Amino acid sequence: MSRFFSQKYEKLVPYTPGEQPKDMKYVKLNTNESPFPPSPIAQKYAKEAAENLQLYSDPECRDLVKKAAEYFGIEKDEIIFVNGSDDILNFAFMAFCDDKTPVAFPNISYGFYPVFAEFNGIPYEEIPLNEDFTINPEDYMGINKTIFIANPNAPTGIALPLETIEKIVKSNPDNVVVIDEAYVDFGAESAVSLVHKYENLLVTQTFSKSRSMAGARLGFGIGSKALIQDLNTVRYSTNPYNINRMTMAAGIGALEDNEYFKKNCEAIKANRAWTVAELEKLGFTVLPSCANFVFAKHAKIDGGEIYTTLKKMGILVRHFDKERLSDFNRITIGSMEQMETLISALKKITEGAE
Ligand code: PMP
Repeated sequence: MSRFFSQKYEKLVPYTPGEQPKDMKYVKLNTNESPFPPSPIAQKYAKEAAENLQLYSDPECRDLVKKAAEYFGIEKDEIIFVNGSDDILNFAFMAFCDDKTPVAFPNISYGFYPVFAEFNGIPYEEIPLNEDFTINPEDYMGINKTIFIANPNAPTGIALPLETIEKIVKSNPDNVVVIDEAYVDFGAESAVSLVHKYENLLVTQTFSKSRSMAGARLGFGIGSKALIQDLNTVRYSTNPYNINRMTMAAGIGALEDNEYFKKNCEAIKANRAWTVAELEKLGFTVLPSCANFVFAKHAKIDGGEIYTTLKKMGILVRHFDKERLSDFNRITIGSMEQMETLISALKKITEGAE
C-alpha cells in the first residue's frame, strides 16, 4: 500500500476473481464461461463496429436498449446497460443502501457482495443458508434492509421458485430487492415478469454466461423507471461511456440470434445432466443445480486435494477455502468433450478411494 492510499480503503479486501493462468492450456472449468463462441451475428456486428472506434459510444445505448426492450417486453426506460453485471451490482449498492439502509444477503453467495458493501461503507448482514445449502425465504420477509439474492445462487447453483421471490419482494415494499440472475437462463425462472408489479424489484442479468460474451463485459438491470433513473444517475456520475461500441453491437447481434442462444443453453443443460450422473457414480454428492456449474464434494477425498490434482492434470475448477465450502469444488459445465476429460481424470483420482 502506498502512503497515498485513501484511509477509507485501507482495510478493503478486494474480490479474488477465478484464476486465468497462461502457463499452459487448461481445460478451463473454473469461471463459468461458455464453452461456445459468441453468436456469428454478434461477432460480425462487433467487427463492423471496430471500424468506428475513433468515436465515443452512445451513452444512452439507444439501439441496444430498443432491441432489449422489445426482447423482454418492457419500456425503454425500464432497462440500463452496464459493463458486466458486476457494474450494476455495485451501482445498486451505491444507489439503494447507506448507513440507514443496510444490506442483507446469504452468507454463502456471490463473493463480491461483501466486497461491494465494504467498498461503499455499507453495514451488511450475511444470513446463513440452511443445512442443505438452500435459502430460507422466511429470513428475508419484511427485514427493512436492501436485499441481494442470486437466483440461482452461487456457488451452490440452487434456485428459488418465482413465487418465493415474489413473496420476498412483496414483504419488503420499502426496500429494494435485487435479484441477480447471472445464471437464470440455465434452468431457473426469471423475475423480469414481476417488474411491472413491484416498484422495489431490480433484476440483473449478464451476457457473460448464456450469451458467451464474458470478455465483452455486458450486463443489464431491469426495474421500474424510477429505479433505473437512480442507477443512471450513478452511471452518469462515474462513467457514462461504460459500454464500448463493439460490445454494444455484439449485444444487439446476440439478442437477434435467439436460436443460437437457446441451442447453447439446452446443450449446457444436457451436459450438466450427464456430468451430474457421472459424478454421482464416482461417489460425489452434487447439489441440485439450475446454473452452468455444479457444486460437488466427494465422500472420501478432500475438495482442496481434488482441485490441486485436477490442476496438475491440466483441468481447472474453482475451490473456495471457506467454512462449509472447502469440501466442495465448483465445476463449470463446458462442452461434452471437456466434461468427458474431467470425468476420466476424476475416475483416476477416485479409483483408490472407493
Ligand atoms: N453475479 C454472479 C452470481 C456471478 O457469479 C457473476 C460472475 N462472476 C456475476 C454476477 C458477474 O458477472 P459479469 O460481471 O461477468 O456479468
